Amino acid sequence: MTDPDNNLHNRLRALAQNLWWAWHPEVIGIFTDLDPHLWRQVDHNPNAFLNRMTPEQIEERAADLVLHSRINYAFRRLNEYVEKNKTWGAIHCGNLSNRPVVYFSAEFGLHESLPIYSGGLGILAGDHLKSASDLGIPLLGIGLLYNQGYFSQRLNKDGWQEEDYVNLDVKKLPLQMVTNSKGKPLVIQVDTRSGVLQARVWKLQVGRVPLLLLDANVEGNSTEDRELTSRLYGGDNRLRIRQELLLGIGGARILQALNITPGVLHLNEGHSSFAILEEIRRIIEYDQIPFHRARRRVSLYTVFTTHTPVAAGHDRFSPDLVEEHLGVIREKLGLSHDEFMALGRVNPEDGSEPFCMTVLALKNSRRANGVSAIHADVSRLMWHSLWPTRPEVEVPIGHITNGVHVLSWLAPQMFQLFETRLGQDWPTRMVHPDVWEKVAEIDDGELWETHQNLKMRLIRFVRRRLQIQAERRGDRETIKQIDQILDPDVLTIGCARRFATYKRGDLIMFHPERLARLVEDAHRPIQIIFAGKAHPQDHEGKQLLQRIAQYSFNAASRKRIVFVENYDYNVGRHLVQGVDVWLNNPRRPLEACGTSGQKVVLNGGLNLSVLDGWWNEAYDGENGFAIGHGGMHNDENVQYQRDAEYLYETLEKEVIPVYYDRDTNGIPHNWIARMKKAMQNLGWRFNADRMVKDYAERFYLPAASATSAETL
Ligand SMILES: *Cc1c(COP(=O)(O)O)cnc(C)c1O
Repeated sequence: MTDPDNNLHNRLRALAQNLWWAWHPEVIGIFTDLDPHLWRQVDHNPNAFLNRMTPEQIEERAADLVLHSRINYAFRRLNEYVEKNKTWGAIHCGNLSNRPVVYFSAEFGLHESLPIYSGGLGILAGDHLKSASDLGIPLLGIGLLYNQGYFSQRLNKDGWQEEDYVNLDVKKLPLQMVTNSKGKPLVIQVDTRSGVLQARVWKLQVGRVPLLLLDANVEGNSTEDRELTSRLYGGDNRLRIRQELLLGIGGARILQALNITPGVLHLNEGHSSFAILEEIRRIIEYDQIPFHRARRRVSLYTVFTTHTPVAAGHDRFSPDLVEEHLGVIREKLGLSHDEFMALGRVNPEDGSEPFCMTVLALKNSRRANGVSAIHADVSRLMWHSLWPTRPEVEVPIGHITNGVHVLSWLAPQMFQLFETRLGQDWPTRMVHPDVWEKVAEIDDGELWETHQNLKMRLIRFVRRRLQIQAERRGDRETIKQIDQILDPDVLTIGCARRFATYKRGDLIMFHPERLARLVEDAHRPIQIIFAGKAHPQDHEGKQLLQRIAQYSFNAASRKRIVFVENYDYNVGRHLVQGVDVWLNNPRRPLEACGTSGQKVVLNGGLNLSVLDGWWNEAYDGENGFAIGHGGMHNDENVQYQRDAEYLYETLEKEVIPVYYDRDTNGIPHNWIARMKKAMQNLGWRFNADRMVKDYAERFYLPAASATSAETL
């Protein structure tokens, strides 16, 4: 007889039910040790893994591998984590304890087994939740459960991207259906002129932080509406406004249904701006006050983060779409159609202007921010017309630069090195510069060896992927040479991003002969690993991707230039942990922040980047490499050509010489000095704990004290 609470299968289930495992490699290690093959087969999904093993099988394997104490220890650590009450948040965010921060986002990137993100915005939101959890800040997330997630990517023989959509199986995910007070599944309803939209709600526990996800795939909805939450960013404007209606208004309704009064509404990008309207409606109804007063009150606790430095990237909806979907709430707010449209118009008088989600958010939030200093400059210029009487520098959009959740992106091997050198408590002290000063004490040889091991791990991963890709394409040559693809002693450049044209993923191919010279150099060659998806409807992005893919298929470059399909959390993790150099060359100033380069720094890689987004704040001449000097040109093509020239020059004159400058043991001390410099002066700044603390101190706490004062 086994004690049910003491049963290993149950304990592993409990671990699997809280996404805390996703940033604790020691827990993942238990699963990989139990059965590495199965772990890969189930796409790194602990629940799916446990569904495939009986309690008896687990007991047996655990006994063979002596895993009992590791499982019990992990289980105890999780419980201590969840129950700990002396957190930073408990000490500093007391006035949020009964009224949490509610963080809205259209996507959340938490782990590869939960594909409800497409890229940077989602990963950032996921990292935000994880750090809020680690810090103990009372916060809950609201998002959408995409039943088919984002697509998975395949390239055909011509290097053209093809998309696959697979249905999520909720039984395999750590999701719990949220119920109402009667124990029945909670159903959220949103009225429109053309019928009622319904959604059920799933809860995902992310450490201490719950994430609530709306799911439109319910019986009460029409067939068409059941697919509303099928895919991220698919479909036309009508589908989009319906998704955003669910997210914003449906999301705010969940709070009402669960009796949660928000202390702060944090809108991560404009997709969720409709939440503001539902909050105003609730307050009008509850307090019986007029629209303008309710609006002012909601603004006091609303915080808005914008991410899009291109005017066309902001959602805008036509008056008829707005009336169809928001006519019902408009009447409850007591507004005429024109008054309502004015909430989302830069110029309220202009009857032809569409309704812009960002305008709605900017006009109704107490604090608004961009995600890097340079992005805030761009945003102030872009939205100056909303505050026409103010000088541009006084447009009320500040910045909080993004950071990454360190424990999610740091390789376990590097973690161990930090643990011995930076002190056991370094993860809870990572926002302090003095913690990272100690990186200087790490022995060059030891740091290099750790890095080389991670690089080898990356190369093995890439070969495994390329083998599968080549088999599918019937590419026998690649299969034959698989063990010669990528060389751990060659300078390895990683370049993974969304293939949007402004990111200019093919910049390094501007002069193919010059690139070929670098790649084929007999003594100091380079090799490049590419990855990234183009949006399914972005034809130009797909063409750009195809150029790179075809280049990588060439016999001449096959061993040194590769394309890994289906860039996701998992591919990203391997890349940022194993490359020597991370290449980022967007068209300045269109990278809002960029965070992948921050993940690289933690693991000992160096950035080679245009001075845009975070790198514009981070680069100091010794902690990586800059492409150009931060110049811009009105003509895209001129800027492209110039930046390509700068890129080759920096590679030829700086990156390659420093990398191959070795001592007699083959150790590149000057390179390692840069690795250390980067960790020392960037690690404490560009992490998500620092970012979330900034939000808490500068935005959340003032907003929350305003709400408590207002209701006294
Ligand atoms: C970190 C990350 C991103 C965002 O990185 P950028 O620097 O904005 O390109 C996108 N996708 C994945 C999978 C990531 O891990």
